[in-house]
Amino acid sequence: MRESIEDSYRHRGMRRALLGKLREKGIHDERVLHAIGQIPRHIFFDAAFLEHAYQDKAFPIGEGQTISQPYTVARQTELLDVGPGMKTLEVGTGSGYQAWVLALLGAKVFSVERIPALYQKALHLFRRLPYAVQLHLGDGTLGWKSRAPFERILVTAGAPFVPDALLEQLSLGGKLVIPVGDDQQQRMIRLTKLAGNEIRKEEFEVYRFVPLKGKLGWNE
Ligand code: SAM
Repeated sequence: MRESIEDSYRHRGMRRALLGKLREKGIHDERVLHAIGQIPRHIFFDAAFLEHAYQDKAFPIGEGQTISQPYTVARQTELLDVGPGMKTLEVGTGSGYQAWVLALLGAKVFSVERIPALYQKALHLFRRLPYAVQLHLGDGTLGWKSRAPFERILVTAGAPFVPDALLEQLSLGGKLVIPVGDDQQQRMIRLTKLAGNEIRKEEFEVYRFVPLKGKLGWNE
């Protein structure tokens, strides 16, 4: 039996205020805003930190990792341009919040996390939710070969370069959104796989993510 997830009038009010901030910062995709408006982000916070749940800030989730800032989640999701039924790989499950956003948008979500404790927590979360998100414990810089190809791939940790394995596992017409840079800042990049092995590259804003660690990422 599923445990219920507590949500209240007050939480919904705080979420509405957050949506206002995201709009002011330039998020216009109403589907993305609607999804963020549905999800009780406060369940990822201890009661003592509840006030932080709907601020536009990243927040520690243990193991030296963070739940991404709502703006970053919204912007990455907007850039990913995900539609219902699209097979989507997320690298960096973390709290599971971003995977939940993608699932609410109708994507068929596959998400990889390298830290066992976070993977276990996310497994527990998705057992309580009516979404068939598939989780995997492993090095997401190598993608998830047995489930490939993917129409969309989203990387939620900062990479030193674009892992070849992810490009290989992207289907024709597919899009990969990934922050790439050094250990201080990373530029959001969107790669689209075109016919004849051609790749279109678009560049967006600069962010600061936790490092993407792995065989095709930063040293572990
Ligand atoms: N999407 C997450 C969320 O909604 O909470 C954001 C989590 S955090 C910014 C990035 C995550 O990427 C961390 O949980 C980290 O452990 C994970 N990570 C880093 N390198 C990874 C790798 N090679 N494979 C899978 N996960 C990785």
